[in-house]
This record gives sequence, structure tokens and C-alpha cells, in this order.
Amino acid sequence: MMSVLRRVRDILPANSEQPNVPEQPSTRLYRCDPCSRTYVSESMESCPECGETVETTPTGQDLGYL
Ligand SMILES: [Zn+2]
Repeated sequence: MMSVLRRVRDILPANSEQPNVPEQPSTRLYRCDPCSRTYVSESMESCPECGETVETTPTGQDLGYL
């Protein structure tokens, strides 16, 4: 277990060159057209209500608005 943690730490640079980037939420928005509903989930392929394939809804971050 500890070896895995150490390996991850080796991959991540201690001194990140990136500016102060706020934490990215791991969740995304998924839209079901038949239900006219929007779901928030980390990973979703089909609507839990009707089973239709959901579409990923672009967020403001994806569009570069934020
Ligand atoms: Zn649905």
C-alpha cells in the first residue's frame, strides 16, 4: 500500500509550474432530453429514469467562461 502512495508522489512534481488553479470538481452535468432533466454525476452513461443515453452538458469551465 505504501509503495503505491510513494509512486504517485514521485509522478506528481513537488513544485508545480501551474499557477494557482482552483480545484476542479470531478462531477459533470448530464442531460436527458426525454426526461428534460439534468443530472450531476462523476460518470453516467444512461438516464436512471428512462434508460436513455445521456449527453454531457458543457459547463462554463469547459467553455472558458469561468
Ligand atoms: Zn431520462
